[in-house]
Amino acid sequence: EIHIGAMVTLRELETNEQLNHFTQGAIKESVRHIIGVQFRNLATIGGSIYGRFGFSDVLTLFMALDCEVELYPTGRVSIKEFANMKFTKDILTKVIIKKVPTNVVYLSQRNISTDFPVLTCAVSNINQHYTCIIGARPLHAVAINGDSYFETGITEENIQNFTKCVLSELKLGSNSRASREYRQKIAKVLIKRAFLQLKEDVYGN
Ligand SMILES: Cc1cc2nc3c(=O)[nH]c(=O)nc-3n(C[C@H](O)[C@H](O)[C@H](O)COP(=O)(O)OP(=O)(O)OC[C@H]3O[C@@H](n4cnc5c(N)ncnc54)[C@H](O)[C@@H]3O)c2cc1C
Repeated sequence: EIHIGAMVTLRELETNEQLNHFTQGAIKESVRHIIGVQFRNLATIGGSIYGRFGFSDVLTLFMALDCEVELYPTGRVSIKEFANMKFTKDILTKVIIKKVPTNVVYLSQRNISTDFPVLTCAVSNINQHYTCIIGARPLHAVAINGDSYFETGITEENIQNFTKCVLSELKLGSNSRASREYRQKIAKVLIKRAFLQLKEDVYGN
């Protein structure tokens, strides 16, 4: 397992060689747009995940990594469960990533660099299980299981069928950054790009 303490900063995540090697650079990609280096030197993984902010790039990426959070006094909880938990007085002490064969891709759409994202998208293949996380909907990130759609691998047709299912089930909304309709169009593009990149990472073509 990889244990990341709650006080680790976003900049430390961004520049950590082992973590970025393990995630094929996805961790760096998920934080590099957040304001600037000085800010990322202060913001922590604990605060970023505990907040479960709707716009969170960090929550989206770590949900795709299928990790766990350690809460005091509750104990270990899957991050997907934690994302839906009501707020308690627990302290998030660490984030735990399983050291299993992992491929992950992170993408986001922003109206302008350093702004909050309009939509976030992370897809992963962990132990042959496919997951897609969509965040900044503008509600917080949700996970969609892709196993039944990618049994025959990542093909254009499978991506298209999966995207249709995601768009029909996913609750997307409007806010000052983008309308629901715009988010639907962006989701379609990001899901396709992310899976095609995942395919390249997994199969090398
Ligand atoms: C202007 C601005 C722009 C931003 N843009 C983005 C963006 O584009 N993408 C993105 O993902 N994020 C963005 N963020 C969020 C940012 O990256 C941090 O996640 C956020 O500011 C929390 O920072 P912090 O780690 O200092 O936590 P704090 O502000 O100290 O804490 C946040 C909350 O979590 C609680 N908390 C903190 N640590 C713990 C813990 N270990 N256990 C339990 N509770 C805890 C605190 O009590 C508080 O309620 C932005 C923030 C700001 C202010």
